[in-house]
Amino acid sequence: MKKIAVIGGGVTGLAVAYGLAKQGSEVTVFEKERETGGLAAVFMSGSVAIDRYYRHIFTAHAELLEVIRSLGLEDRLLFKRASMAYFSQGRIYPLDTAGDLLRFAPLSPFARLRVGISASAFLLRKRWQDFDGVSAADWLVKRCGRRGYALFWEPLLKNKFGDRASDVSAAWLWDRLQSRTRGRIGRSSGSLGYLRGGVRPLFDRLEAEIVGRGGRIVTRQAVTSIERAAGSRAGLILNGDAGSPYAACIATVPLPQFTGLAPSLPPEYCARLAGISYSHSICMVLRLRVPLSPFYWINVGDGRFPFAVVVEHTNWMGSDDYGGQHVVYLSRYCAGEDDAAWNSEDAELFAGYARYLKQMFPGFHESQVLGVHVHRDRHTQPIFRTGFSRLRPAFATPLQDLFLVNTSQFFPFSRCMNTSFALAGEFISYWRGKETRW
Ligand SMILES: Cc1cc2nc3c(=O)[nH]c(=O)nc-3n(C[C@H](O)[C@H](O)[C@H](O)COP(=O)(O)OP(=O)(O)OC[C@H]3O[C@@H](n4cnc5c(N)ncnc54)[C@H](O)[C@@H]3O)c2cc1C
Repeated sequence: MKKIAVIGGGVTGLAVAYGLAKQGSEVTVFEKERETGGLAAVFMSGSVAIDRYYRHIFTAHAELLEVIRSLGLEDRLLFKRASMAYFSQGRIYPLDTAGDLLRFAPLSPFARLRVGISASAFLLRKRWQDFDGVSAADWLVKRCGRRGYALFWEPLLKNKFGDRASDVSAAWLWDRLQSRTRGRIGRSSGSLGYLRGGVRPLFDRLEAEIVGRGGRIVTRQAVTSIERAAGSRAGLILNGDAGSPYAACIATVPLPQFTGLAPSLPPEYCARLAGISYSHSICMVLRLRVPLSPFYWINVGDGRFPFAVVVEHTNWMGSDDYGGQHVVYLSRYCAGEDDAAWNSEDAELFAGYARYLKQMFPGFHESQVLGVHVHRDRHTQPIFRTGFSRLRPAFATPLQDLFLVNTSQFFPFSRCMNTSFALAGEFISYWRGKETRW
């Protein structure tokens, strides 16, 4: 058995470790936090488990759905219709159907038609490669005009990529739109899937499978250095522990953290990876006495607002699993840690958000709030800019036996749990080829 280290116990790390364990490797997962899960972890509010970030599954998420089935968790999986809306020019517009788009008053009837056609044009093309070299902004402006782009598409891109929105590859948008429609056969259109009780049971099962095959999950253990052990085939040592070398090490952490771990990586390689930038996430979770709206998801198409989406989880899954409380995510991405919201106190942030909530939902009042929880995470969304297929890092790194499997390789697919499993599958196929050469 070969001893393999996996750095990071998020979805990608556990998916890779599970794949390797099934191949017969002795895997150790190192996770710096108290529990595995990473961005997909839950937090406890009393005895109630709440996802740190909203968390839905599309019917097209074949790899994830297969893992859920094979781990015996299908009875927890629920597919339900989830209602969507768009906040624009001071009003909330339902946006579930083509008919809703045709009634979207901020745009002229002609512009609405052009926006609909621009979305369909993405859905008709089957190959993401057709979009790789063109920016989503250019592609959309051409098809739906400047006003349709500025009022409808641009806020959506800006919400995720900020100032870098105009440079994002159309291939990324292609996948976003495709994943909402692919794989709907057998499930009602517009349905989203959710693992009741959060993703924790999935992590528990993955951990049990890894441990059951001779692996280890080491939490509260950050890896701070990776270096070659002395001797040509002696493997890699972590955190200077020469007594316990690993035949190989797979890092699943974001690129800025990865390059800091292995000082012997060549500077030109690190510089190339540094060319890939990320957005960070700021998400406020509110526990409320009463719902804010009837919608699951509201895109906020007004750049003055401090949050980009309002995701009212309990409008979709109901409040029974949350002790009757209503759970709402106010989420957005930011470019850097100099963002005011990144540094402000949670209470101050809430006071600022509350003013905007009142504009959007006139019935909202602070007295309805039972709890406020703020999550901030670095490097959560790689910026998949135009022509990203040429930048996508390889699994192999210049340091022999050190491999990289992380969200920067998700391109062109959306950053979601399914892509972690799909990428892990791709890595395991690559690994099998390598193993035979060893
Ligand atoms: C706002 C938001 C909403 C989302 N919504 C959805 C959704 O609805 N559906 C969906 O499927 N996906 C969603 N996602 C995406 C999904 O959460 C991510 O794609 C997925 O969790 C990424 O997993 P990962 O393992 O690649 O990265 P991470 O979750 O970041 O895991 C990396 C892990 O490495 C650990 N780590 C870092 N450095 C070290 C170190 N030096 N040593 C040891 N451990 C280390 C971290 O603690 C972390 O646990 C959302 C993400 C965000 C931010």
